Amino acid sequence: MPRQYKYLYGPVPSRRLGRSLGIDIVPLKVCTLDCVYCQLGRSSEKTTRRREYVPIDAVIEELAEKISNGLDADFITIAGSGEPTLNSGLGKLLKAASDITDIPLTVLTNGTLFYREDVRADCAQADVVMPSLDAGDEPTFRKINRPHRDISIEKLVSGLCALREEFAGRIWLEVFLVDGMNTDTGQIAEIKGLIRICYCNIYNLAHLTITSNCPGIRHNIRQLLLGVVNDKITNNGVRPQGNKRVSIGISFPAIGQKDRPYRMLRMRHAAAASAQGYSGSNNN
Ligand code: SF4
Repeated sequence: MPRQYKYLYGPVPSRRLGRSLGIDIVPLKVCTLDCVYCQLGRSSEKTTRRREYVPIDAVIEELAEKISNGLDADFITIAGSGEPTLNSGLGKLLKAASDITDIPLTVLTNGTLFYREDVRADCAQADVVMPSLDAGDEPTFRKINRPHRDISIEKLVSGLCALREEFAGRIWLEVFLVDGMNTDTGQIAEIKGLIRICYCNIYNLAHLTITSNCPGIRHNIRQLLLGVVNDKITNNGVRPQGNKRVSIGISFPAIGQKDRPYRMLRMRHAAAASAQGYSGSNNN
């Protein structure tokens, strides 16, 4: 019988990553944010404290076994049930993974801890970092992302700028548009302005994905794309170089498709809970 892994899930099909093996290194909904659109429910622990939430040596042992058994995946993605950069063993995991496999490594993160040098140093071993930016001002950031009190939009943006300066891999930015919360013209302009600040040179912003669960806001998306892409690539004469192409993804995934990795996570947590003899959810 195949082994049930505690920290690995998949590979699962991902719209951006193809077949992606997920690695979950924080407990369910331990996060710096509590986003209104989070598919895993309310955050059980909103924190900025870094520690080894799950034992990294055990994660590495599972990954090494999975790879030695023949792993067919396009990416290995460190993500999962909360904010992965909260785990202080992230750098050790990425280093170990890059020693045992050539499969590209991705960190799927909300980006809120990149103002910290240790978090940026940990992520240096990744091939791709996928942060989020859903708001252009503090009140909207608080409304959509409901951050820990120590996190602000200013810290988030300063961290993204520092990452841009230091990170040698690719940065794939995701903007999640929530109908009625960050979709009016003023909001779009604010988000666009911050993307310009973070990625004024666009030399390692390789992909911008704009996601929404509401197909009715295509006009705003068009505005956002025109503002970011045309101004910076065409009007200002900044051109993609070599494989550092900037590509734009607009995603309106069918709910079933988008929800699939989360469904797997929820099922895994439910199985673990029932094995431990309780059935409650961590959600508030
Ligand atoms: S950052 Fe991700 S895990 Fe955390 S609350 Fe937002 S959507 Fe959920």
